[in-house]
Amino acid sequence: MARPVIAEMVVVGGGAIGASIAYRLAQSGVGVTLVERRFPGGGISGASFSWVNSFDKKPQAYHLFNVRGIGEHWALAAELGSHDLLHLDGALSWGVPEGAPGASPAGSNAGPGPAVPNAGSAAPAGRSATSTSTSTPTPAAGGSVPYKGQNTDVGYGKLAAKVNATRTNGYLVEEITPDEAMELEPDLVIDRDSVPVVYLKPMEGWLDTAALAHRLVTAAARRYGLRLLQGVSVHGVTRSGGQITGVRLSDGTEIAADMVINAAGPDGGRLAAMAGGLLPIQNSIGINLVTSPVATQLRRVVHAGAFQLRPEASTRVMVGGQSIDGTLVPGDPFALDDPRALAELAGAARVMPALRGASFEGARIGLRAIPADGLSAIGPDPLVGGLYHAITHSGATLCALVGRLACADLLGANPPELEPFRPARFATQATRTGHAGSDE
Ligand SMILES: Cc1cc2nc3c(=O)[nH]c(=O)nc-3n(C[C@H](O)[C@H](O)[C@H](O)COP(=O)(O)OP(=O)(O)OC[C@H]3O[C@@H](n4cnc5c(N)ncnc54)[C@H](O)[C@@H]3O)c2cc1C
Repeated sequence: MARPVIAEMVVVGGGAIGASIAYRLAQSGVGVTLVERRFPGGGISGASFSWVNSFDKKPQAYHLFNVRGIGEHWALAAELGSHDLLHLDGALSWGVPEGAPGASPAGSNAGPGPAVPNAGSAAPAGRSATSTSTSTPTPAAGGSVPYKGQNTDVGYGKLAAKVNATRTNGYLVEEITPDEAMELEPDLVIDRDSVPVVYLKPMEGWLDTAALAHRLVTAAARRYGLRLLQGVSVHGVTRSGGQITGVRLSDGTEIAADMVINAAGPDGGRLAAMAGGLLPIQNSIGINLVTSPVATQLRRVVHAGAFQLRPEASTRVMVGGQSIDGTLVPGDPFALDDPRALAELAGAARVMPALRGASFEGARIGLRAIPADGLSAIGPDPLVGGLYHAITHSGATLCALVGRLACADLLGANPPELEPFRPARFATQATRTGHAGSDE
């Protein structure tokens, strides 16, 4: 069926997903306005661990989607000149004996708050603390769901099983010795006696996700005439019957649009509801901690038992806080010398001695935006014409691909890769809470 002539599209949200879609639309000659209430990359894209991967992602369609997502990053970097933001040098991981140091840093798998279907974050998600404490984002209904990818299954056997399952899908995972791993990453100390094998996943890495959002928006504005409205929120969506006619902004401005693209991340459920659409999402709170400067040449993402590390801004290290996630109470302050943070740091310093004596300079806390069945939700809303959703977890991995495919879709190409991820499924199936595999 022929699509209506496009007068204007409005992208809501300048995170990596919205920026990528806006870039592709503007490049394609569409008149597109990007509305971002803070600044590009100022949401969860700035809070992310940003591990680019498809390790242990399920089902196979989602795994392949993520594999494609990794490949698409190379194409985008070549086009945008953003190789400096893309660090696909590989990732290392190893398991530990059950109960050994490093198996569970904070020992904290306590249950989080209640599920919050269709809720977004009331406070800006993804803030970075430079003072000694910050507060956690507060979803409208007051909680978040557990993150099913929690990196707690790190015993040898469980990790080996994940490796085998991922390999079955044709994903390259090499086995190297601890000495070979330490040759690759001289800052690491890996116990030869207790670690029989280190897994090297050469195609993985990490992304400077917030900076990519900013670079995409800048390039789209300069090269292709993208209109950026920054520091202003979408407060309402105007409709005529079942069809979107535009958006209303917090400053009272109205923008007429045939198509509104919901790239609001953890606020995606809220935006969908505002427009009368259907998008069940269940956000999940997460924290990543950034150290003070240390003498490091770490290049790769490292999963050492339950500890997660990656480089951050050359002399700093990001320590993933999945063991803390389940103990975070939305709205509560989080101090950088919180015992849970210090336990993470002490554990990370066991595998990376350069971290001894370091402290945390920043806590990046955000709500993962996870559609209710754990998979991406990309495509037209099932109830409202002119409303298009682009909400997914793993957006660091997927943003380049989602930008290209969503743009093609909006221009009528109907890419088959998006078929498993259509929001229409929520209108026909009972949604279940879940997650499509481990991520950061
Ligand atoms: C703790 C954590 C760890 C993560 N780890 C990984 C990982 O290892 N690997 C991976 O691939 N992914 C990871 N992710 C997910 C990944 O960071 C995101 O999927 C990715 O950054 C894309 O985010 P986004 O663009 O959907 O959302 P955001 O970056 O949050 O962008 C949405 C934007 O919309 C704006 N906005 C919202 N509502 C409105 C409104 N009404 N009007 C105007 N603007 C609005 C917000 O200000 C925000 O900037 C992680 C996320 C978190 C929270």
